[in-house]
Amino acid sequence: MKKITIAIDGFSSCGKSTMAKDLAREIGYIYIDSGAMYRAVTLYSIENGIFKDEHIDTDKLRNEIKDIHISFQLNPETGRPDTYLNGINAENKIRTMEVSSRVSPIATLDFVREAMVAQQQAMGKAKGIVMDGRDIGTTVFPDAELKIFVTASPEIRAQRRYDELKAKGQEASFDEILENVKQRDYIDQNREVSPLRKADDALLLDNSYMTISQQKEWLSEQFNKVCKA
Ligand code: C5P
Repeated sequence: MKKITIAIDGFSSCGKSTMAKDLAREIGYIYIDSGAMYRAVTLYSIENGIFKDEHIDTDKLRNEIKDIHISFQLNPETGRPDTYLNGINAENKIRTMEVSSRVSPIATLDFVREAMVAQQQAMGKAKGIVMDGRDIGTTVFPDAELKIFVTASPEIRAQRRYDELKAKGQEASFDEILENVKQRDYIDQNREVSPLRKADDALLLDNSYMTISQQKEWLSEQFNKVCKA
């Protein structure tokens, strides 16, 4: 069967990654979490004194962006890819609230996006890839054969994120998470470079009241439709 490119975009914490990972595993495609790449750049910026007290030293980041190497390696325990920042497993560190609350301003920087988009396009050159993010169907792979745009209400997304953090034993406050979700939505939709928006040819999925298995089934159907067309 011919391999295609699958772009899954949408708001933060709407379950895109879970859907995308499950589909990739089911159909034997590579899965790339593009948000993890922006999170890794943010972690690097925090750890290297670039993002300090709400200020970003953009000159330093611009100089160092070429030294930030992000890769993914399958974790045999979870069966899912972990994110590596310059060869070190950063999967847990990039998911903290400290990184979540700083990632959107980093992701507005044009030179950061340029560097990430180039890496993402290289990863998808051979097709057979599922990538999720904010600008995959609009900027990274505008010719993707299957594009999905996922949304759910901010309250439902905050609750999911809260449950996820709690399950991992991390400290979490629902109000703080809801505020962060709303803030990231605003920044992501209103930035100048590649703002979050549904591509004209993307299918819209509001999963506010859907279970994970219902979403999975829906996505498999869409994949089969495109592949059999
Ligand atoms: O998907 P996730 O919520 O982990 O992404 C973290 C942040 O990275 C988003 O809030 C957004 O600001 C940014 N992002 C982006 N473009 C992408 C993926 C993520 O700007 N393709």
